[in-house]
Amino acid sequence: MSSSNEISRLLRFNPGDKVVDVDPRATPGFDGKKADGAEVQSERSARLAELQELLYANHKARGDHRSILLVLQGMDAAGKGGIVKHVVGAVNPMGVRYTAFGKPTEEELAHHYLWRIRKALPPTGHIGVFDRSHYEDVLIVRVHNLVPPDVWEPRYDEINAFERELVAGGTTVVKVAMFISLDEQKQQLLERLDDPTKHWKYNPGDVDERKLWPKYQEAYQAMLDRTSTEYAPWHVVPCDRRWYSRLAVTELLIEALERLDLSWPPADFDIEAERRRLLET
Ligand code: AMP
Ligand code: MG
Repeated sequence: MSSSNEISRLLRFNPGDKVVDVDPRATPGFDGKKADGAEVQSERSARLAELQELLYANHKARGDHRSILLVLQGMDAAGKGGIVKHVVGAVNPMGVRYTAFGKPTEEELAHHYLWRIRKALPPTGHIGVFDRSHYEDVLIVRVHNLVPPDVWEPRYDEINAFERELVAGGTTVVKVAMFISLDEQKQQLLERLDDPTKHWKYNPGDVDERKLWPKYQEAYQAMLDRTSTEYAPWHVVPCDRRWYSRLAVTELLIEALERLDLSWPPADFDIEAERRRLLET
């Protein structure tokens, strides 16, 4: 497997990249099979857990104000839930702030679309996870004309400004666009129908959304073109092979955390004196 730096580079969206050229079955940076992936996954999950603990420890012991925000966007059945369960699930929940963004409530709709987003940002020292995000406001909203174009159009620039502010405040924003093929989505949705333990995940509306696939591709293209910035770039993760997408997101998080260059906070007390004091009790 390639290094996390290399995987991050391979998956990074570059200006000019086309959504229609993405191969959702590809496994960039990894030439092994599913079984090899499982082995690497457990090792890398352990590394991710260690880095998360370092982030948390530095916040607690040294007042380090930094944080990570993982933004997951993808069509239904792309595997967002699996990333949360298997990738984020490998780290200590104490240091994670998870939020899923569904259809806005009446209260949320009465506010600016970034209102609910700001409220869900990770506290310092934490990893925030957005299962869908502010990008819904330029995806489903654009595809379904939930607001007119003169309302959603300025949002790309507004989102960039918002993220620039986040980054300036010490948050590393890791944006992941999860790409599943139309065929694989059908298989996944069929599995949900066939399995009574997955009926709760099935939404009849997802079948209607499938018909809008080209419009979604257009909306994803515009999102990537206009909001993949130097300070908060998008990564395009092929998701037909779930074991790969989990490994890829693990590597993206590892890469982001390693860039923080964290070390274990030293004791702010006299260790030997404490040892003596403790032994005397
Ligand atoms: P799920 O993630 O499967 O629970 O579905 C949540 C649904 O809420 C998806 O269909 C999203 O597209 C939709 N949703 C999320 N955010 C918004 C938004 N800002 N406006 C309209 N629909 C949204
Ligand atoms: Mg759904």
